[in-house]
Amino acid sequence: MKQILVTGGAGFIGSHLCERLLNEGNAVICLDNFYSGSKKNVWHLIGHPGFELVRHDVTEPYRAEIDEIYNLACPASPVFYQYDPIQTTKTSVFGTFNMLGLAKRTKAKILQASTSEVYGDPAEHPQHEDYWGNVNPIGIRSCYDEGKRCAESLCFDYHRIHGVDVKVIRIFNTYGPRMAVNDGRVVSNFVVQALKGEDITIYGDGSQTRSFQFVSDLVEGMIRMMATPVGFTGPVNLGNPGEFTMIELAEKVLSKVGGKSKIVFRPLPADDPKMRRPDITLAKKELGWEPKVSLDEGLDEVIAYFRQVLFQ
Ligand code: NAD
Ligand code: UDP
Repeated sequence: MKQILVTGGAGFIGSHLCERLLNEGNAVICLDNFYSGSKKNVWHLIGHPGFELVRHDVTEPYRAEIDEIYNLACPASPVFYQYDPIQTTKTSVFGTFNMLGLAKRTKAKILQASTSEVYGDPAEHPQHEDYWGNVNPIGIRSCYDEGKRCAESLCFDYHRIHGVDVKVIRIFNTYGPRMAVNDGRVVSNFVVQALKGEDITIYGDGSQTRSFQFVSDLVEGMIRMMATPVGFTGPVNLGNPGEFTMIELAEKVLSKVGGKSKIVFRPLPADDPKMRRPDITLAKKELGWEPKVSLDEGLDEVIAYFRQVLFQ
């Protein structure tokens, strides 16, 4: 039985990952300070003999004997990460630093949840892992983008200097059940707005694109990445290459939910990337991985989930 630490384990992605790791017979320490996650996300796991929930802030060192670390702690929604941007940078940088120190001491493998945001507002499309990105270092998204870039840099230095077995993944927009109703990201916003009969808020003219990955596909990719041989570090893109404008997404959600919501346009936030689509050639080759859940199937699940959360 492996002892696995999941930081940010009470968050949206972390809770699905904890569940999957427990189902595979591992012991899981779920570490979270509940900044953007919630005990509710892992309530159903409490009482499982392999599960331990620890309230802890990753900006402080943590000690445990473990075999693997999935470092997910960090708010991911722009609304949450911009609410306390200094804490966001501290979480990414000091948190990753602390987890790398733990990995070094215990000789654990560590998977770092990096992001497509390291590519910024990309000048190359689709984004391949070799692209160095186009990030505003002083804008409102910098706390997240530069925090995650610095975290990657730390991972590679710990690998080069101390031989730590790091695995870096760059996650593209991921959605699914257990996103918070007030998360603020586009899929949950549109679905919640449509279900409540409220206006669907498109920021800007809605021509910007994103590629949406369902959470179960991501979790599969994370587990495959952790299982790669020592020395395979990535970074590896994990995302669904289907690309949609925000108008297309709004129309899809509206046609599925029905109701009387109208589309309204709101100002585009600063530095909002104009397009995003992963090149997943490397993940296919090294992990034998590609996403299986289409946006249509995933949206149906998310709509059913939020219907239950909002109305039952
Ligand atoms: P989330 O906000 O639901 O989960 C993040 C979790 O980290 C929360 O439970 C939060 O309380 C916890 N956390 C935040 N700061 C912490 C701290 N200082 N100490 C301990 N715990 C802390 O977001 P998510 O969508 O589940 O994202 C998980 C990870 O995946 C993040 O690192 C994020 O950057 C990365 N990621 C997510 C996406 C996506 O589309 N969901 C895309 C790219 C990268
Ligand atoms: N967006 C939108 N309406 C919303 C929330 C977001 O039009 O209610 C847009 C946002 O401006 C961005 C895209 O949807 O262009 C994806 O936003 P999200 O916050 O989900 O993720 P990110 O910008 O980090 O990719």
